[in-house]
Amino acid sequence: MDAEFFRAWIAEATRAIENQRDHLTQLDAAIGDADHGINLTRGFGAVATALQQADPKTPGSVLMLTGSTLISKVGGASGPLYGMAFRQAGKALGDAPEVEMHALAGALDAALAGVQKLGAAREGDKTMVDALAPAASALAKALAEGAAAADALSASAGAAAAGAEATIPMQALKGRASYLGPRSVGHEDPGAASTALILGALRDVAARQGR
Ligand code: ADP
Ligand code: MG
Repeated sequence: MDAEFFRAWIAEATRAIENQRDHLTQLDAAIGDADHGINLTRGFGAVATALQQADPKTPGSVLMLTGSTLISKVGGASGPLYGMAFRQAGKALGDAPEVEMHALAGALDAALAGVQKLGAAREGDKTMVDALAPAASALAKALAEGAAAADALSASAGAAAAGAEATIPMQALKGRASYLGPRSVGHEDPGAASTALILGALRDVAARQGR
């Protein structure tokens, strides 16, 4: 997978977030401050401009620029957290012009580690970690079992979606939603939902390219 593949992923993720902007904002209205869809739409819009202007040539530099742009353009908790995730993923890919699936799995692990280092959330705290952690595990497991790229990314996206849905009965222990205490129960976490969209976009791009 080359820089073009990673740009296609980010473009697809941007489309998915734009399509689901109001849904993400509604999720955040229930247990936060109703800005998650707006935050991410603004952030990924700025990423598209930055990628066009800088034209990065390696997978790692595409993800690093994505992360830096999200950090600088998105207010709210999710900007720095997603920024960290993409930057750490990019760093893990190094400066290779093309990367294989095992490197991508390592990048997803690095993204998770970065989010947890910055936000200190564990699985079960009702955050994006509840989608990202199972997605990273599912990808590693599928590759270890010899799955083809598209199938492994499909397993990963499925695990992210299931993880996001599993946040509904959880009580939030991190972020703004935690201020609600037990009243945060019964709603899907917006950041987990957006993580599932971003990893769904990765699956869709890989499938479209017949990997
Ligand atoms: P804000 O909460 O500042 O308004 P957003 O609405 O854009 O920012 O993002 C909220 C999402 O950020 C939450 O749904 C949750 O998934 C994620 N989040 C918040 N705090 C943390 C944390 N400490 N660790 C991981 N994710 C977090
Ligand atoms: Mg919010």
